[in-house]
Amino acid sequence: MNFLEERIQKDGVVKEGNVLKVDSFLNHQMDIALFEQMGEEFLRRFQNEKIDKILTIEASGIGIACIVARYFRVPVVFAKKAKSVNLDGEMYVAEVESFTHKNKNQVIVSKKFLSAGEHVLIIDDFLANGCALQGLISIVKEAGAIVDGIGIAIEKGFQPGGRIIRNLGYRLESLAIIEAMDAATGQITFREQPVCVHRD
Ligand code: 5GP
Repeated sequence: MNFLEERIQKDGVVKEGNVLKVDSFLNHQMDIALFEQMGEEFLRRFQNEKIDKILTIEASGIGIACIVARYFRVPVVFAKKAKSVNLDGEMYVAEVESFTHKNKNQVIVSKKFLSAGEHVLIIDDFLANGCALQGLISIVKEAGAIVDGIGIAIEKGFQPGGRIIRNLGYRLESLAIIEAMDAATGQITFREQPVCVHRD
């Protein structure tokens, strides 16, 4: 097991409705030493790409994206969730259905912060059905920028998002891929992955 899988096994809590709670280390209380290991690992996996900018979505992607950005030495832009937007032409807009809240949000990025030709690494905490990622990808496309890669902390491999995004041809790297999880027993099974290298 890699460092993130070990932590999920130790502190993750499986809830009904295919939800994994990781709020003690990832998206409420945040373990920055763990985020640094994630940053180092994403840099290793995407070292051959020339990334100009990291793009994520509020709220829980922001913490991880900021630490990852220190390794790539690039700025972070996060897509803001807005109930309704006055479309004044200054924003890129996409519609995203929330997995956890079951509602639809428009997500927006100011045109000032994403430009044609920029090479973007998308970072997020979870991948479930892929709606959040598809919204971010459409914003990058609208800007005329390029998605060079997508880095996810936890992919739920039993939900369709990972397959959909990989079938679209994107390079998607998830640090932990959950093959199955059971709310009754708390058991979590991971997909076999190549070993992460961590330098102490
Ligand atoms: P998707 O759009 O891929 O269906 O869902 C991705 C988003 O939903 C992530 O940004 C994350 O915030 C949230 N999410 C999806 N599944 C889970 C989960 O099992 N646990 C938590 N804590 N968040 C999740």
